[in-house]
Amino acid sequence: METTITLKRTGAKMPLVGFGLWKVTKETCAATVYNAIKEGYRLFDGASDYGNEKEAGEGIARAIKDGLVKREDVWITSKLWNSYHEKERVLEGCKNSLALWGLEYFDLYLVHFPISIEYIDPKVKFPQEWWGVDGKTVTPIKVPYQETWTEIEKLVDAGLAKNIGMSNAQGSLIHDVMRYARIEPQVLQVELHPYLTQESLITYCKRLNIAITAYSSFGPQSYVEINCDKGAVSLLEHDTVGSIASKNGKTTAQVLLRWALQQGLAVIPKSNNHERLVQNLACTGFELTADEMKTISGLNINLRLNDPVDIHPSFAIFA
Ligand code: NAD
Repeated sequence: METTITLKRTGAKMPLVGFGLWKVTKETCAATVYNAIKEGYRLFDGASDYGNEKEAGEGIARAIKDGLVKREDVWITSKLWNSYHEKERVLEGCKNSLALWGLEYFDLYLVHFPISIEYIDPKVKFPQEWWGVDGKTVTPIKVPYQETWTEIEKLVDAGLAKNIGMSNAQGSLIHDVMRYARIEPQVLQVELHPYLTQESLITYCKRLNIAITAYSSFGPQSYVEINCDKGAVSLLEHDTVGSIASKNGKTTAQVLLRWALQQGLAVIPKSNNHERLVQNLACTGFELTADEMKTISGLNINLRLNDPVDIHPSFAIFA
């Protein structure tokens, strides 16, 4: 089975299974990244907003220094935060992240959300998150996506990003970007799991040859610790997924990842637990039947766990 997906324009080979860095604590991040590389992970999905880019970069640097990998063997993704969308801020946002990682370029750079908020100097508050310095006020600003995308394209020209893409976007926004893009988005990163299967978005992206990375593959699990699981039944403990897992001699986590991979999607599971991190990478050596795929997709309830409307009513981008 293929372990990478080839991106349009550059022909770059993006690993299909990577490691997600959201909520990996600063204290454990460097060691987690280093150990993940030791176990075979070659893609790390970071973001300015995760607040751990410096530590993740330390893990990478140590792995390179110890001869485990070379820079070109690892794929680093980062994302422009919402407070850097204005044309005079995009380069700054990218450069800040590169400096934290200690890297000269990102393999993939994404616009984190199609939502713009007021700039906050990182010296005053970092990561800036959604809220102002008071920690509670959200201040939307009016920046057209085209303005941000045009600057993202310049990061490619400058050699700071090899590949570029969008995140948390729906078909209508992608359709719009395709009208003006000088450099088309190569990757779309979105929430996608059996409770939110998004078949028509997958079909549309395949048509445009935009690779999809599915995030939150385990559905509600990631949102339990931040009290945002919306009361949904765990997919990792779901009877339907459980019985398919036992039939295949795999864990429910592996089945959920495999279900995404078999649709041609990339995945980026996160785990702070070493055993699980190893287990998640081992989701490529088996095949779900067409019936099993259909049964899992049948769990869809269009449940979106990461919805910015929960932050501010004017951020109803998925309405
Ligand atoms: P995830 O679906 O990877 O789930 C993580 C949770 O599942 C953690 O609580 C972990 O303890 C648990 N888990 C992991 N492996 C397990 C296993 N084998 N068995 C049992 N439990 C296990 O969720 P996620 O972190 O939300 O998503 C993955 C990555 O996607 C993130 O780390 C981040 O890099 C990216 N992401 C991007 C966006 C975006 O806006 N672009 C949003 C959310 C996540």
